[in-house]
Amino acid sequence: MFTALQRLRLAFARPALPPATSPSFAAAARHPALLVAGVSLWLAVFGNLPLWLKLAQLPEISGLRGWGFGLAFAMLVAAGNALVFGLLAWGWLLKPVLVVALLAGASGAYFMASYGIVIDTPMLVNVLQTDPSEATDLLNWRMAVALLLLAGPPLWWLLTRPVRSLGPWRHLGHSLALCSAALLLAVGSVLLVFQDFASVMRNHTQLRYLINPLNSLYAVLDLAAQPLRMDTRTLAPVGRDAQRGPSYSASASASTAPPLVLLVVGETARAANFALNGYTRPTTPRLSARTDLLNAPDAWACGTSTAASLPCMFSHLGREDYQKRQSNAENLLDVLQHAGLGVLWIDNQSGCKGLCDRVGEINTRTLNDAQWCSGGDCQDPIMLRDLASHLQTLPAEQRAHATVVVLHQMGSHGPAYARRSLPTQKQFQPECQTNALQQCSREQVLNAYDNSILATDAFLDQAIEWLKTHAADRPTALLYVSDHGESLGENNLYLHGLPYAIAPDVQKHVPWIAWLSPALQQRAGLDAACLQRDWAQRRLSHDHYFHSVLGLLDIRTSAYQRTLDAFAPCQSATLPR
Ligand SMILES: [Zn+2]
Repeated sequence: MFTALQRLRLAFARPALPPATSPSFAAAARHPALLVAGVSLWLAVFGNLPLWLKLAQLPEISGLRGWGFGLAFAMLVAAGNALVFGLLAWGWLLKPVLVVALLAGASGAYFMASYGIVIDTPMLVNVLQTDPSEATDLLNWRMAVALLLLAGPPLWWLLTRPVRSLGPWRHLGHSLALCSAALLLAVGSVLLVFQDFASVMRNHTQLRYLINPLNSLYAVLDLAAQPLRMDTRTLAPVGRDAQRGPSYSASASASTAPPLVLLVVGETARAANFALNGYTRPTTPRLSARTDLLNAPDAWACGTSTAASLPCMFSHLGREDYQKRQSNAENLLDVLQHAGLGVLWIDNQSGCKGLCDRVGEINTRTLNDAQWCSGGDCQDPIMLRDLASHLQTLPAEQRAHATVVVLHQMGSHGPAYARRSLPTQKQFQPECQTNALQQCSREQVLNAYDNSILATDAFLDQAIEWLKTHAADRPTALLYVSDHGESLGENNLYLHGLPYAIAPDVQKHVPWIAWLSPALQQRAGLDAACLQRDWAQRRLSHDHYFHSVLGLLDIRTSAYQRTLDAFAPCQSATLPR
């Protein structure tokens, strides 16, 4: 009996036994080029079903011309696969490379077809930064069946065929011949339909992210080449000149107690589903009932995924400059710390993406709370449990100036939306209970998602109440901004992470809400009524985040830009800036 490992070893092993001279072996053994060609063709046809479906929907290519175009495109993709596999699949690497290509191709096809996502570099970064809990959220039977159908037959064919041994020089010659033939086929296919090809690729740039699995390979190479484009080793200093403003001196401020600010970083909350922003369902009953809330209904994210948005949101650079940055740099939390403030990051999700590396951090998973946590995830209110004692872990000297706490929510993290609300918060029924969103009706998906917004509404309300009761004697504030939005089945798109240029607005339009205690309004010279009016018609974005927090806390630094401070237009002119 072979163990599974032995079978695997045999499947990948070089064809040493039986000897290549054995007639039966020679008859059964396959030429390496045949395996490369077979896998390339299979992936071009079946691994690219999302691409073919997308092409079929394009109005400009239809009928016989459309079929011809599709056929030429498929030949191009197959030739591209063969060219790349032919270059990579050498000697004993042949089968491992083809196996990885099949698995990458099948899973890429499944996710693209199921959620309408595409595979690009930011998506790869998200995959690499995911944790076991997030990954498990995506697993389901549909996925297992899809992978079995898409990768099973070619894997069986590949792993049960012995490979003909050619010797290094003959192998090199045959590989070069295969790659040349593939190149010729690719060029020939494009030339056959050049006009259509040029216009389709120009008008529908998202198609190139669907070419599978070369899209994954491109993303891997693009990410690997990042150190060539920017200095990834150094961390540029930012705001080392940061100082606390005049409001920190006792004489300037009516309240001498140090401010406490909660920065709630939302997850996957889209502005469109907040009743506060005009959504027809009552998803924010507690926040809507407040008269002391500031709401910016026209706020926009820097990216369409956590990994893309978070670092950009906390950066002093705006979205465009952040994309063009030459090196990584210190962020908002570092600047606050340079100014002598106490900074704590409490994480109820997959980590702070490097933002909290130099400040205090608490991960809720280490708290082992039976009331709020189950199955590896915790409900967001756990971040308020023991918050007062967590604050005490910061240096007393810093706390004497001011404290900033980031609460990184689990929020509406998909696709398991139903797990993001408590049983008492499931007001919208019936809910989609599975993570295979396509199995649910759109109404069920919306219900589960809207219940998660209800949970966030309750959490934010609770956090404001926490400030009112636990820090009644201090100037306090809460600023809530989500990292990105979400697609909930509109145009068959689910989740988020589409390239910014082609992502629908629902993935980029985010809620932006603030609550300021009267003591903080007075200390910062802010007119809340003015802010309510101003934000109602101002377009804000993550570009404003860094500068608004510094402005709110009266931190003076050359890195601060008043024009990007969302609070500045309603700040009393009598305060020195
Ligand atoms: Zn996110």
